[in-house]
Amino acid sequence: MTILSDDFYFLFNDLKQIAFTFNKADEFGAVNKKMADFCGLKIEELENKNISVILNQEDSLKIKNFNQKIFESGERKKKKIILEINNKKKNVEVDVIPHQNYEQEIDYLLCLAVDITDKIKKENIFFRNRERYRTLFDQAPLAFVVYDRQTNIIDWNQRAEEIFGWEKEEVLDKNFNLLVPEDYYSEVTEMTEKLFSGFQNYNNNINKNVSKDGNEIYCEWNNAIIRDQEDNIIEVISIARDITERLRAEEKIKKQNEELEYSKLRTQFFANISHELKTPLNLIFSSLQLLEFYLYNSQTYKDKDKINNYLKSIKNNGFRLLRLVNNLIDITRIEVDAFSLHRGNFDIVKLIREIVNTVSDYLEEKERDFKFICDLDSAVIACDPFNIERVILNLISNAVKFSARGDQIILTLQKVDEAISLSVKDTGIGIEKENQAIIFDKFRQVDQSFKKKREGSGIGLSLVKSIIEMHGGKIELESDYGYYSNFKVFLPFKTIDQEIVEKESYSPDSLLNKVELEFSDINYI
Ligand code: ADP
Repeated sequence: MTILSDDFYFLFNDLKQIAFTFNKADEFGAVNKKMADFCGLKIEELENKNISVILNQEDSLKIKNFNQKIFESGERKKKKIILEINNKKKNVEVDVIPHQNYEQEIDYLLCLAVDITDKIKKENIFFRNRERYRTLFDQAPLAFVVYDRQTNIIDWNQRAEEIFGWEKEEVLDKNFNLLVPEDYYSEVTEMTEKLFSGFQNYNNNINKNVSKDGNEIYCEWNNAIIRDQEDNIIEVISIARDITERLRAEEKIKKQNEELEYSKLRTQFFANISHELKTPLNLIFSSLQLLEFYLYNSQTYKDKDKINNYLKSIKNNGFRLLRLVNNLIDITRIEVDAFSLHRGNFDIVKLIREIVNTVSDYLEEKERDFKFICDLDSAVIACDPFNIERVILNLISNAVKFSARGDQIILTLQKVDEAISLSVKDTGIGIEKENQAIIFDKFRQVDQSFKKKREGSGIGLSLVKSIIEMHGGKIELESDYGYYSNFKVFLPFKTIDQEIVEKESYSPDSLLNKVELEFSDINYI
């Protein structure tokens, strides 16, 4: 039993600190009220009792060994320990002071303890919060710029380095203006003052910034205000998202929409202009018909031949204009996806034969050696007859245009694998290798020097290619410059279930006029 003087006992008992003694390494001596409260027991339940009254076996052994060493060495020791007291984990800081009696023996250990459980808990929370903040700060996909009342940067994260191009060390203690174009300095100062005065926060602000290499960037900014315990604003974290790319994409979409709007306008314009252009042309054609009628039925006109020639010229040039208008309108429609085919299941052999019948006289008149080769009786495929006729007439008229008297023009229709192949070959001037790839481009005429001799707008082949491709087919060119050109069209040998175009709406009678139309450029020569 620990012998304490009365005075000492009084002090010991009245201590604000937990105090107790050990008589033996594993046995309590005197215990003060604080210690009893700490253990949730009465003083007498602890005094002179084995430490196992409050500690489990493992902790008892630990304490016993620790005390034993002090009894032996006589050295005072301070230690932070975690104990399970009455099934609760406690963090305790103990100062163990060995007491020597008159014989210089250690007769008991005086222990002064502080319960630091709450403090440790707080420290742990603080530490965890700090770590959480640090990780967030470092790894956030947003730029964090921390600055003080003087707008000096005091911290910044990895993403800020990536966005603005400055390393952290380069910006610390530098003014926030580093990130702002000069014209905006005063605006930033004003905003910072308002932020620090607590009057106003600015969120989702889109600002122009500059990076280290002087590039303009656009960021969306949000601000987090940091206060101290006295509620004073001590720093601001401005959080930036780089939206330069997003703005650019939006700008691009806006432009595309404008372009779309514009192209709609253009289509509308072409639809209108087509009407405006065609109406006078139609009037010219009907007046022409009347004039022809009067001319042929009248005996009185002198210079009949001359008048007839003029009429022919007017008619042909009218057709040229009409063809140009039609082609221009269609090429524009194709460009804005407003061109559609009217397909049905048609016998392509019959269709081509009709074209051949109509053009052969014409070609004979032009002194071209024309041949039609076809070993098929019939072949029904899905096509738009109106546009297929246009394609073939265009290719034949080109063959005439770019060949001379006596040259051959061979039209071949055959089945090749799963396709119907239609080729128009002429032994005319041919096309140079480097030009073969570009002649299907819009507005291309290969040989500008021949322009005067061979009329055309350079949109015929581009239209031909588009029409063929819309049919699911393709067009190929084979040519040896100076010898021949061979345009090969391949159309899928397929029919469609549902007839898209009423067969009645297709009238072969109009073919003759179409020939005149498509050949109007040649007649000019
Ligand atoms: P164009 O209305 O001027 O005839 P095309 O698109 O039909 O326009 O033809 C483009 C160019 O391709 C022509 O100007 C000509 O240079 C070349 N071309 C087309 N067909 C032939 C051909 N059969 N022989 C030689 N050159 C040709």
